[in-house]
Amino acid sequence: MKPAPFKYFAPASLEEALALKAEYGEEAKALAGGQSLIPAMNFRVAQPAILVDLNRIASLRNIHKNGALTIGAMTTQSTAEKNMLVAQHVPLLHEALPSIAHPQIRNRGTIGGSVAHADPAAELPVVCLALRARMLAQSQSAERWIEAQEFFSGLFSTTLAADELLTAVEFPLVEERTGYAFLEVARRHGDYAMVGLAAVLSLDENGLCRQARLVYLNVGDGPLEATQAAASLLGQKPSAKAFEDAGKIASQEDMQPFGNLHASPQYQQHLSAVLTQRALHLALDRITQKATHL
Ligand SMILES: Cc1cc2nc3c(=O)[nH]c(=O)nc-3n(C[C@H](O)[C@H](O)[C@H](O)COP(=O)(O)OP(=O)(O)OC[C@H]3O[C@@H](n4cnc5c(N)ncnc54)[C@H](O)[C@@H]3O)c2cc1C
Repeated sequence: MKPAPFKYFAPASLEEALALKAEYGEEAKALAGGQSLIPAMNFRVAQPAILVDLNRIASLRNIHKNGALTIGAMTTQSTAEKNMLVAQHVPLLHEALPSIAHPQIRNRGTIGGSVAHADPAAELPVVCLALRARMLAQSQSAERWIEAQEFFSGLFSTTLAADELLTAVEFPLVEERTGYAFLEVARRHGDYAMVGLAAVLSLDENGLCRQARLVYLNVGDGPLEATQAAASLLGQKPSAKAFEDAGKIASQEDMQPFGNLHASPQYQQHLSAVLTQRALHLALDRITQKATHL
């Protein structure tokens, strides 16, 4: 299998890359780790006229903490996975990264590539939405931050403009009395999951649920947030019954999965209900463990 002919540019700076995007717009696709784009080109599902290879742009590979944790778009998934700042301050991301494919793919695949690709079965869009991450979009003439809720706009689509590149993703640092969990079920380790979710649970000083976010992969045309299930937890004392109810609401009311080759819609709903309960219990345990260490 061979891709359709294309022109290839490998700019050495972000300015040059943005100039190419300004000139060619939609015709020019960014090449990051190539782990999704190159197979799509080989199958001719994608036929970009121009590739703008971002791999020589060192300024897009970095991780720094400054009130939030900012990860440059070209940081590989494996670099982020092994980074201590990520493990300490964005533990949900740290937990989700090993579920992406296999180490060889994570050595090439990038944080920005996965987020920009917006695959509904991917782990990182779900994590970004659950944590209310922000994406930095830059063009030759401007830059803007896009909230995760505004960024993912449907199947493999985002609100990045044709002349923009995603240059960084900013994650809020984990707060006090907040627990998290990422869980998924795949047929084999490294496969795209049949269902997965990122859960964030925060308690107030009285131990009541102050905030809950439940975001699922592979049950919609993008990361799917179960808002009714999350709302059912607010103000409640965490309990097995509350978590079971949240799982039922998420799987029956918040989602209408399409099913796929490996899982019927009913099976995806069953998995969602079970995973929701498990993730909420795990998130709660993590809050309690932190409290006992204080
Ligand atoms: C066998 C296999 C299994 C996989 N399993 C999983 C899995 O379980 N979970 C999962 O999440 N992923 C999986 N992937 C995909 C992998 O995570 C990719 O690395 C990721 O989806 C894309 O990242 P990339 O850096 O390779 O981007 P690329 O493939 O280079 O690009 C993907 C898309 O994003 C655009 N893009 C990239 N960077 C930018 C940017 N900075 N600004 C604007 N647009 C940009 C490109 O133009 C392209 O359209 C798998 C891949 C393979 C080959």
